[in-house]
Amino acid sequence: MTRPGAPRTCAVSVDLDGIACYYRIHGLGAAPVELEHVILERALPRAAKLFAARGIPVTWFVVGRDADSELATPDRAARAGNAARLRALAERGDELGNHSYSHPYELARLGGPETVAELERCDRVLRQITGTAPRGFRAPGYDLSPAMLDVLARRGYRYDSSVFPAPGYYAAKAAVMALLAATGRPSGAVMTNPRALTAPTDPYRPSMSRPWRRGQSPVVELPVAVTPWTRLPAIGTSLIVAPAMIRNRLVRAMAGRAFFNFELHGIDFADAEIDGIPAELVARQPDLRVPIAEKLARLEQLLDQLAAGWTFRTLAEVASDVQRTQ
Ligand SMILES: [Zn+2]
Repeated sequence: MTRPGAPRTCAVSVDLDGIACYYRIHGLGAAPVELEHVILERALPRAAKLFAARGIPVTWFVVGRDADSELATPDRAARAGNAARLRALAERGDELGNHSYSHPYELARLGGPETVAELERCDRVLRQITGTAPRGFRAPGYDLSPAMLDVLARRGYRYDSSVFPAPGYYAAKAAVMALLAATGRPSGAVMTNPRALTAPTDPYRPSMSRPWRRGQSPVVELPVAVTPWTRLPAIGTSLIVAPAMIRNRLVRAMAGRAFFNFELHGIDFADAEIDGIPAELVARQPDLRVPIAEKLARLEQLLDQLAAGWTFRTLAEVASDVQRTQ
């Protein structure tokens, strides 16, 4: 809990998961190929415009493959376009973070060499885009492993921001996965390690072998926001879909924290109709049933509320403060 009147910091981050990730979560098979880049081509510019207009710096967690202009595939030009869009954001002061190369939900269960390759390939793509070393990482599906933390420490990363200690999120994910398994269309998502539920909810130095506990890691952990005591997930998708009353309550509850790690996803800035997202996915994602104008209006209202009590900074800036003081 924070003292009344103490400075509070909010870091906005946007995970740029492609549409294919949502097809995998919902067990829908392969996503339509023409939608492969819809999040970076259409949703990202909407998000960037909204935050730039308010002078809010953002940390964008990039799936490396989507912006890999070296990959010799027919959609190479689209990847180069994505890289150019991300470069422009970095040039205006935003941060680009590592969200793995291909967003495998099972990354925490893969062997060491595959984990290293996923993190290092995305690292290479981000260095090519910005000319500088990335500072932060977020694991697909919030599932951090000691092998990932080891790569981050060796590559000189400042922080990880994967731990999401929200029992409600965990229970909902387990229920959806059980339901899909029962219908014979198993989800491509992988259950997050339940040890993360007991992790600290404020920034901490993790143990290298058990990153859900406090330790001596040179890489600090910036957990994704949950409310004090009840640990309700205070992330963008749930805040945007929730009725105004719930949204206001969550924001008021977050005033009890000195640091609000406010996570959004690229899909929060997509519009099912304008962007041509198929009904099969819309049926499973409630946020896609809210038109973009309404989602943006709700988010603007939320950002107004946050601007009254919090100072906006990137996750890398927050991490360097934590490194100095812990
Ligand atoms: Zn993701």
